[in-house]
Amino acid sequence: MNSLKTSNLGYSRIGENREWKKTLEAYWSHTITEETFLQQMKKYRLHHLQKQLEKDVDLIPVGEFSYYDHVLDTASMFGFVPKRFGHDGGTVPLATYFAMARGSQGTHACEMTKWFDTNYHYIVPEIENKKPVLLENRPLQAFLEAKNELNITGKPVILGPFTFLKLSKGYNTESFGSLLISFIPVYTQLLSELAQAGATLVQIDEPSLVTDITTDEMELVHDFYEEISKQVPELEILLQTYFEAVSHYKQVIDLPVKAIGLDFVSGYEENIQSIKKFGFPKDKILAVGVIDGRNIWKNRLQETNDLITQLSKYVPLTNQILQPSSSLLHVPVTVKGESKLHSIVKDALAFGDEKLDELRLLRDVLLHPSPTKQNVLERYDSTLKKLEQSTWRKKKEETILPSERTKPFQERYELQNKKWNLPLLPTTTIGSFPQTKDIRKARFQWRKGELANDTYEAHIKSNIEKWIRIQEELDIDVLVHGEFERNDMVEFFGEKLTGFAFSQNGWVQSYGSRCVKPPIIYGNVSFDQPITLKETLYAQSLTNRPVKGMLTGPVTILNWSFVRNDLTHKEVAFQIAEALLQEVQSLENSGITMIQVDEPALREGLPLKQKKHSYYLDWAVEAFKRSTSAVSDTTQIHTHMCYSDFNEIIDAIKALDADVISIETSRSHAELISAFETNVYDKGIGLGVYDIHSPRVPSEEEITSVLERALSVLPANLFWVNPDCGLKTRGEQETVAALSIMVQAAKKARQNIKQVSESL
Ligand code: GLN
Ligand code: ZN
Repeated sequence: MNSLKTSNLGYSRIGENREWKKTLEAYWSHTITEETFLQQMKKYRLHHLQKQLEKDVDLIPVGEFSYYDHVLDTASMFGFVPKRFGHDGGTVPLATYFAMARGSQGTHACEMTKWFDTNYHYIVPEIENKKPVLLENRPLQAFLEAKNELNITGKPVILGPFTFLKLSKGYNTESFGSLLISFIPVYTQLLSELAQAGATLVQIDEPSLVTDITTDEMELVHDFYEEISKQVPELEILLQTYFEAVSHYKQVIDLPVKAIGLDFVSGYEENIQSIKKFGFPKDKILAVGVIDGRNIWKNRLQETNDLITQLSKYVPLTNQILQPSSSLLHVPVTVKGESKLHSIVKDALAFGDEKLDELRLLRDVLLHPSPTKQNVLERYDSTLKKLEQSTWRKKKEETILPSERTKPFQERYELQNKKWNLPLLPTTTIGSFPQTKDIRKARFQWRKGELANDTYEAHIKSNIEKWIRIQEELDIDVLVHGEFERNDMVEFFGEKLTGFAFSQNGWVQSYGSRCVKPPIIYGNVSFDQPITLKETLYAQSLTNRPVKGMLTGPVTILNWSFVRNDLTHKEVAFQIAEALLQEVQSLENSGITMIQVDEPALREGLPLKQKKHSYYLDWAVEAFKRSTSAVSDTTQIHTHMCYSDFNEIIDAIKALDADVISIETSRSHAELISAFETNVYDKGIGLGVYDIHSPRVPSEEEITSVLERALSVLPANLFWVNPDCGLKTRGEQETVAALSIMVQAAKKARQNIKQVSESL
């Protein structure tokens, strides 16, 4: 390499119109044959390469395209197919591959979990104490395809063994070192075959190097790459990190590889400081991730130009590669088709394709600087400036909101108990009831203008009424209106607050074929009109039992959106909190005084590095409290989180000071309940008593046993009985059946407690 180059770390899979998703789903539903499936996928793959070629990307990634998930690809390439799938040891067939991802009759799928701190989910490999074997050389196939079909010498992208193992389960951590070594032969073979086929540079992704790893682990990484570089000296390795600054900068730059990729967006300050302090080896290439691979705003190219120029004091331009900070998997494909966004907002956006344009522009200016080129950058930046200077972003004075309730929990709870006089172990649900096809169709038509407001509203009302009656009949104590008017728990709120925009096609992959379209927070967020009042009040008008108001919390709204990057997340969260408080207060003023503020995404915003946890948790808790504290003592604040592995954040959960929290338990009973043995929780709490992820109706014994175990560690007078999460994805019949059993189990448990206390 002898001049500044541009590179891409990975291209979005889903296609401009989610054609990838549609093909996958068609294949799963047997609408298309395997042959058609493979043909169409190839077409998309080549189209993506072609686009990058046209955008003049110097180093085009190959091999990162996937039929589901790249971690699953890596696992099946190395033969890590769990025994239960009955695999014979040859190349993994598509059926087995998808069975691992989605389960198949009688065989449960592999676990799925979040890819670092993104909203992408990967399939967790199960090692089962096996050693890797190279069943097929997937990167080689991709490399050859690009070469033969488009004459592209691609840059193969491979997940590194250290990260792969860190993300896997099913091995003894003590054997981590020897397991890592066992990957040397397969990587050697894989890389030699690539070199023979004409590859000159490969990108090996090791994002786990940005997490809190030990020096011992860093040494293992060193030994692995030293060996590989010895074995395949003809191939240059670009060791790629992203999502944060590397934890051991000095050791990382000393790794015996040709190039190191660092994230200069998420890890900007730390990485820059390290370079200034420790320099960068003269014989190495620095791949500089300067274009944000995780957010959708245009880059401030003049600033980036200055940054690169500054960096060139430490690393000459000829030794730099310009690139996005991470794979473009995490941003939508292109802004091109968006026709409904305000032009000022649209002009400030850069999705995947536009980011590649930015790279080219930057490279050209850096390679041949001139006043005219500078003007080009200036003009480019001016579109972003327009948004920055718009009234939507006018600096707001921060209002100081109370973030403490006036009375401590015990006193409040006593007053609240008196007010409602609920039975011991009150029963409730998490908010949503089944969204039938009818409701979704009505909403779809209404949005397209094909259904009049009145008709749509009448539809929603009749569903609310139906479910208020069902809940009364089931004898549930605290009711909900059912959330029939909501398609999505963030979009619904964003549409009624100021500062949010919605793209038509800004989809990103969440897991498998599932894509999400996050709202765009482009301006100041504020309260504009009541959000949930109408439906809640209607529901309450139908019954004498309390109906809970149901809101999405500030941290969840923030974490599930693309957020403006001129303010900190903390500042934006506080704006959302202030707006939500107004909604809380309008509910309260209208007589809705049990209000649930859901925070299912609180935990997933946790930074990758331990040292940043407390800062995040502090402001996240503060945001929640600002939206819920300025209420009367007798207003009962509930919250909900749908996960149970919250050992790490138990203190933050307590600090929310919610009167009642409901959390998921069914998928990990033992763990959760044991967490409460060591952690005293002394506020209202409902541990989900049955799993809502499956249509299966639980038996009374199952629910009773969860209740008994929970009550052995938690006081009965604080305990609530509810399902794990909302019921919107369930069918009506199974929902009524399950809730009926839940209520019966709660009643029996009450009886038992009464008898025991009477006999004392
Ligand atoms: N109130 C929401 C519901 O019941 C909560 C959903 C969630 O936790 N993800 O659907
Ligand atoms: Zn939930």
